[in-house]
Amino acid sequence: MRVVICGGGVIGACTAYFLRCRGIDVTVVERTDVAAAASGKAGGFLARDWCAGTPLDALARRSFALHAQLPGEIAGDWGYRPMTAYSGFVASDGDTRRDAPSALGWLSDGVVITQRIGTTKTTAIVHPRKFTSAVMDASLALGAELRPGRVTGLVRDGDRARGVEVEGRVIAADAVVIAMGPWSVLAVQWMSLPAVYGQRSPSIVYDTASDVPADALFLEYEGDGGAVSIEVFPRADGSTHITALSDIAPLPLDPAAVMPDVDAIARLQGMSERLSPLFRPERIIAQQACFRPVTQDGLPLIGKVPHSEGLYVATGHNVWGILNAPATGEALAGLIADGATREVDLSPFDPARLIPLDPSLLQAR
Ligand SMILES: Cc1cc2nc3c(=O)[nH]c(=O)nc-3n(C[C@H](O)[C@H](O)[C@H](O)COP(=O)(O)OP(=O)(O)OC[C@H]3O[C@@H](n4cnc5c(N)ncnc54)[C@H](O)[C@@H]3O)c2cc1C
Repeated sequence: MRVVICGGGVIGACTAYFLRCRGIDVTVVERTDVAAAASGKAGGFLARDWCAGTPLDALARRSFALHAQLPGEIAGDWGYRPMTAYSGFVASDGDTRRDAPSALGWLSDGVVITQRIGTTKTTAIVHPRKFTSAVMDASLALGAELRPGRVTGLVRDGDRARGVEVEGRVIAADAVVIAMGPWSVLAVQWMSLPAVYGQRSPSIVYDTASDVPADALFLEYEGDGGAVSIEVFPRADGSTHITALSDIAPLPLDPAAVMPDVDAIARLQGMSERLSPLFRPERIIAQQACFRPVTQDGLPLIGKVPHSEGLYVATGHNVWGILNAPATGEALAGLIADGATREVDLSPFDPARLIPLDPSLLQAR
């Protein structure tokens, strides 16, 4: 059996890895670079039970366990480390706590920590680009193939997938997986798929060396336009990722053309400087943006594409794509190879639960 995976983000890489572990031939087609989009620009934060009470819970728990296991299985260093997580707020003007020292010594006065929300048993982090690349490299070492190129169509025989078209060339396959993140929406022209949207988030990465401890922060910040949530993720390689201020923006057709909004970056930089003197302008390594793949009901699409044979989709992971990628890849590999999944029930993510998008709407985008 040969499977073609469209998209070399974290979902495509993990699916390739678990398919190869089962001995299935795999080709990954990536139009930009491995981890060129959100999978390279995310925070990389992982939480074991923050999806408790939602249909994502079992997927997240299984994935959290796989993240802890994978460093012992595949080569590379992507900075997996357990960490603590705190919530709090930045005291605004007039608040008596504005000049009080923070409970965490590396933060500025007036950054108030209210609660510990994760421990080294329940929260962790990876460097998402290094993780995605290491998993892809592990797949290649096991015999997978990576083809640069843009998937432009599907080859089919009636309802059955027979391969994909990559800029005019055909790659034959017995099964095709759509894992193009928010660009999966382009596949509605080729198959019966529900809508996938892209939600843009800017981020700044600082070189903080070993000055910032392994404490993730989820803070409320009272700004000009009301309360804003800001997230701070210090990683094992000495980089600290800060994100806030998501917005709705048109998704560029080319993933390489994704750019941050200049005003949002300036605002985010000002907010970061208020948090700690460690977030100085000369320590900035990257100012960037990426689009999270989002679906109508907020749950991912993982499974067989309705009204087809040999067609699968894995996207829409929203804010938890790095966390949930390993269990997604493992489950999808089981579904493709055996027709069933053992570890996680994929039925809450069945694409058939949502009405397919009318392709004519896509033309208007
Ligand atoms: C600022 C930010 C912070 C985040 N932080 C976290 C976090 O801390 N923890 C967490 O779990 N998640 C986080 N996420 C979410 C996570 O990044 C995403 O859910 C995840 O990366 C999605 O992965 P993907 O493989 O589905 O898509 P993508 O990473 O978008 O990959 C899709 C790939 O498909 C390729 N492609 C597109 N079109 C084609 C085509 N026609 N042919 C071939 N290839 C194509 C693209 O080039 C791209 O490489 C964050 C997201 C953002 C934006």
